[in-house]
Amino acid sequence: MFIYLNDYNMLQDELNNIRHSAAHMLAAAVLELYPGTKLGIGPVIENGFYYDFEFPEGADISEDSLKKIEKKMKHFIKQNHTFEGQKVSAKKAMEMEKDEPFKQELIKDLEAKGEEITFYQSGPFMDLCQGGHVKSTKEIPINGLKLQKLAGAYWRGDEKRPMLTRIYGLLFSTKEELDNHLKMLEEAKKRDHRKLGKELDLFTFSDLVGPGLPLWTPKGTLLRNILDDFVWELRKERGYEKVSIPHITKKELYETSGHWQKFSDQLYKINTREGHEFAMKPMNCPHHTQIYNHLSRSYKDLPQRYAETTTCYRDEQTGELHGLSRVRAFAQDDAHVFCRQSQVKEEFLKIWDIIDIFYKAVGFDELDVRLSLHDPENFDAYLGTPELWQRAEDAIRSIAKEKGVKFTEEIGEAAFYGPKVDFITKDSIGREWQVATIQLDINLPDRFDLTCVNETGEKERIVMVHAAIMGSLERFLSIFIEHHAGAFPVWVSPVQVQFVPVSEKHVGGALEMLKEFREAGIRVDIDSADETVGNKVRKAVGQKVPYILVVGDKELSGEELMIRVRGQEDQEKMSKEDFMARVKQETDERSV
Ligand SMILES: [Zn+2]
Ligand SMILES: [Zn+2]
Repeated sequence: MFIYLNDYNMLQDELNNIRHSAAHMLAAAVLELYPGTKLGIGPVIENGFYYDFEFPEGADISEDSLKKIEKKMKHFIKQNHTFEGQKVSAKKAMEMEKDEPFKQELIKDLEAKGEEITFYQSGPFMDLCQGGHVKSTKEIPINGLKLQKLAGAYWRGDEKRPMLTRIYGLLFSTKEELDNHLKMLEEAKKRDHRKLGKELDLFTFSDLVGPGLPLWTPKGTLLRNILDDFVWELRKERGYEKVSIPHITKKELYETSGHWQKFSDQLYKINTREGHEFAMKPMNCPHHTQIYNHLSRSYKDLPQRYAETTTCYRDEQTGELHGLSRVRAFAQDDAHVFCRQSQVKEEFLKIWDIIDIFYKAVGFDELDVRLSLHDPENFDAYLGTPELWQRAEDAIRSIAKEKGVKFTEEIGEAAFYGPKVDFITKDSIGREWQVATIQLDINLPDRFDLTCVNETGEKERIVMVHAAIMGSLERFLSIFIEHHAGAFPVWVSPVQVQFVPVSEKHVGGALEMLKEFREAGIRVDIDSADETVGNKVRKAVGQKVPYILVVGDKELSGEELMIRVRGQEDQEKMSKEDFMARVKQETDERSV
């Protein structure tokens, strides 16, 4: 079962044109209301658009100003302005934008890249723009439009450049879609992983360490390790072995892999005292090839399956950082399979199984499958030859067909070294996320001359499969935390049972009981603060602990326990043994 994305893409293109055209009208409204404002850029984003402005000094812009701007914007939209394009020379363009320093910078860039320079006039407003508009602003659905918020944004995401004011707009085809989206945003705010990370004490950031560099607390580390151990358990059953590599490398490794050229902006580079150039690793594949290659391999040794959860480093721009979803240091649960072409299918399907099992156990029931292919019209962005790509893409397509699932294909989403199978899931408030990925690599084996000796004694080129399950643990956890709103399944919860002694005199007895739980492998914590029971229970509820056990005279005298179960009104009565067995079972079965 295979669906062409063409129809969908057409609709998406249309919507993108509508959204981007609205950005023009936003700029027109701002210029009308705040003459002298300098313009940045106004691209389409998911669910809408934004425009960056440098407001003149003294302009008092706040969330309240948005209503006024929105009104003016809608006024322009209703005037049914058309979009008329014209191509101009760089010289002419510089003249036209003589009061717009940011636009001038863009013109210079376009000129340097040898690209066309075009302007679009719509009603009162002309803008430097590469196009993608509606014919007339009457196509913009006014009822689905809302200016959403203001934010500071560095020009070009660079903290050394001026801070501009970004105005975000939402734009949907209908008012109903807009309202649904606003409701979803309300819900998203409540479960924002940055907020929950603090409340549940999972991770933190330090000004001294720097932005984009998360620090994991004991509780957060436990959460990571529980998930990572599970991935490892699934891999181990399928013949993977752990390897371990340093976090830096000589430049030459990345020159060979192609990362030095393709990834240069994002590499942290280091100069050694002996004058060598090193880099922090942005990924692990090149290092792993050297483990494969340190021995001559017979076909009988294959597949070699290496797994390692290890930190990677990427020089993201400060303005682009966001909580755990976009960071400068992140751990990957990475794995690479080195195998023969004839083994690719089996290895792919094994990884696919791990992905199915893992995502079900962490509460994501449905995974959409997307084949991410290269864009033949932009072949410079990739390594290798068209023939190699064709063969690799045919291979993953036939594997997906064999798996018997629905899948889509998307041009231009491949990695620069090979096509991918990407897995996309929906969270509990309807947002889509790309999570796991399996990648077939036809290029690194060439670049590193990876071979095995085959049955006839000849050297045979092998292939590599990249197989991250969570991918970046940081990014995965941001999705996981928000999906569950911090109320994790019992088997993943860092604290499964919170003990709450009624008073000082019950602490000793509670500790004894806690020891029993701990010895049975149950993760427990105790709140022995000198506070009221009500207070301590409220705290534990706020921590979203699955089970709360108040320990008083009755509980210590061997009577049945009263358990507060997360999300339940009534307490449950059961014996200590039954309760422990229940928590154990939920943990062992990894039930959601
Ligand atoms: Zn435009
Ligand atoms: Zn890799």
